[in-house]
This record gives sequence, structure tokens and C-alpha cells, in this order.
Amino acid sequence: MVSEETSKLELSLKCPVCGSNLQLIENSTYVILGCPHCKVYTRMTKKHIYRSYINYEGNYVNLKWTELIKELYVRIANRSHRESSET
Ligand SMILES: [Zn+2]
Repeated sequence: MVSEETSKLELSLKCPVCGSNLQLIENSTYVILGCPHCKVYTRMTKKHIYRSYINYEGNYVNLKWTELIKELYVRIANRSHRESSET
């Protein structure tokens, strides 16, 4: 029934608008950060993540999680600001 694998994780990171916990959603193409209450979501393709947030150091692959989450969080904050001026 499920066509593609999706995993969802509730973070302790709070929504800048309503203060509820943000969700991190991952499927085969995207990593999505959003608030289920405000319906504000931002997504990033995994391709972009692989390109920008992964360091290859010899045999080690290092994913820069904090930078990735920070960038997504900034986008959420910007989007929720913009929402008040839209419609
Ligand atoms: Zn919210």
C-alpha cells in the first residue's frame, strides 16, 4: 500500500509560530522539516544534501546534521514570517 518509504521523526525543536514540536520527514527524494499544526513545511532534495552537507574524509563520511537542520529551521522561520504578509 505504501508506494515509497517514508520515515517521520518528531523533534524537540519548536515551531517559531505555534511552539509545537517540528517534524522531520524523510522519503526517497526529500528531507522535509515542518510543523503539522501550522502546515508550514520546507524541503530539501537529498541530492542537494549529498552535495552540500556531506564531507568525505578518507574512509569516513561525515553528514553535517546541525548545519542541515539549522538551514531548514531558518527557512521555516522565514516562511512563517512571510505568511502574515501573504493573502
Ligand atoms: Zn507551528
